[in-house]
Amino acid sequence: MKYDLIVVGMGPSAVFLAYELIQLNKGKNVLLIDQGKPVEKRTCPMEKVGKCVGCKPYCNITCGFSGAGAFSDGKLNSYHLSLKDKDGSIYLGGNDGGYFKKYMTESEICDLLTYTDNIYLKFGADPKLHGTEHIDEIKELQAKASKQNLTLVSYPIRHLGTEKAHILYGKLEKYLKDNHINLLYETEVKDLMIENNKVIGVKIHNLTNDKYEDIYSDKVVLAVGRKGASWLSDICTKNKIKTKIGSVDIGIRYELPDKVMSKINEYMYEGKFIGRPFPYRDKVRTFCQNPSGFVSAEVYDNGLTLVNGHSYKDKKSTNTNLAILVSHHFTYPFDKPIEYGENVAQNLNRLGGNAIMVQRLGDIYRGRRTWEEDLKNNSVQPTLKGAVAGDLTYGLGYRTMTDILEFIKDVDKVVEGFANPDNLLYGPEIKFYSNEVVLDKNFMTSIDGLYSIGDGGGLTTGLMMASCAGVKMARILSQNK
Ligand SMILES: Cc1cc2nc3c(=O)[nH]c(=O)nc-3n(C[C@H](O)[C@H](O)[C@H](O)COP(=O)(O)OP(=O)(O)OC[C@H]3O[C@@H](n4cnc5c(N)ncnc54)[C@H](O)[C@@H]3O)c2cc1C
Repeated sequence: MKYDLIVVGMGPSAVFLAYELIQLNKGKNVLLIDQGKPVEKRTCPMEKVGKCVGCKPYCNITCGFSGAGAFSDGKLNSYHLSLKDKDGSIYLGGNDGGYFKKYMTESEICDLLTYTDNIYLKFGADPKLHGTEHIDEIKELQAKASKQNLTLVSYPIRHLGTEKAHILYGKLEKYLKDNHINLLYETEVKDLMIENNKVIGVKIHNLTNDKYEDIYSDKVVLAVGRKGASWLSDICTKNKIKTKIGSVDIGIRYELPDKVMSKINEYMYEGKFIGRPFPYRDKVRTFCQNPSGFVSAEVYDNGLTLVNGHSYKDKKSTNTNLAILVSHHFTYPFDKPIEYGENVAQNLNRLGGNAIMVQRLGDIYRGRRTWEEDLKNNSVQPTLKGAVAGDLTYGLGYRTMTDILEFIKDVDKVVEGFANPDNLLYGPEIKFYSNEVVLDKNFMTSIDGLYSIGDGGGLTTGLMMASCAGVKMARILSQNK
């Protein structure tokens, strides 16, 4: 079987690639492959049974149509809508464009973001933009943060909400099907077929009929997300695809009362604090803030269970959750950030009996573990019901833990109550990015015809940019045909 294009993965980067190919009239003989299920068949049993049951063969939260986007909080960062002071300094948003700056000019990135944002709107995203109304209040918080050597970044944000994200991606799935994009579900891509430094296809294992097959194409796009980061690393090593040593973000999910976060939640929806606390000066940041949200668990390769968080548009808790992540960059001779992160996750999983572990901040300060009894009487009640009370300090390194605790103290000086002893830390929260795949201007790897987009290869780190990468990839491919 030969296709014009094979895409590995059906996350937002792949979905938007297929969408744009249809617009360009190039979507006739295209195949998307994912190990997970169609979006309408993806359900997480945790909602009913209260704990992660480790769905087999693949986690429904991270795999299937729309990838990690399906159960995400659906916060779309509108980086292009930056607001500037009279002197030209940016106080809201700011098109940093992430790694995209290496591949495009700023105005190209802005156009791409505007175009992609409009696709989301066309398929039902809420037109409301959070973070654009309380400019003076935001500036005041930013000034307070800078006194603590913290940067408080605020982007205008659209919030889909988990249940609405599901519906939106469902509409996109129908659109792709109606326009004859081939979607192959519950199928793993096991390996690439490469001859004379040129890709010629992929080797697949269909999980529904247990069949192994070779499928051919001169163009293959890898869009495997963080879920596929470990697989991608192995594939790159095996096939001598050039990579650069990447980083891994290790930390915790923090849960605290909405009322503590009320100003940030109201003015910005998501406030991104970035700091470099003493003594290590590592980059520590808050990420993926979910007002009135829920902490969740997801299962990765090798059965690793990681914590995450999301929020619904309608169903609400009284807690806000957010990630506190420490960037780990290793230096010579160590060059295995993914393995390091996996080891941390494995240890914490074992310590928590294969569940997510939760500990009160005050117990860490007091040098003791948290017990189930302590949680019952705690003023902050965990929204992740399957989490097991324990001691995170056994599993997170001294440096990581110190970074997190110092950072919490710093943020407390901006947001009173941020360091309340009853606040909860869940672990492990780890963002795996494969060793960064070396790409040329056209997102092509060192193998002819093999491309890489989205979070997996380290090109993007969120829904909006992953979707933009897909649109851009489609335009590149249609020009090169
Ligand atoms: C709970 C949660 C909340 C989030 N909230 C937000 C948010 O509010 N805002 C935001 O910007 N981002 C959020 N994110 C992150 C966001 O979902 C990702 O940045 C985005 O989905 C990345 O898109 P992608 O296309 O790169 O990969 P993914 O969405 O990760 O998709 C990759 C797909 O590839 C498939 N795959 C991998 N390897 C193989 C293989 N070998 N064979 C076949 N298939 C394979 C996987 O099954 C998966 O479906 C959240 C993520 C989670 C889990």
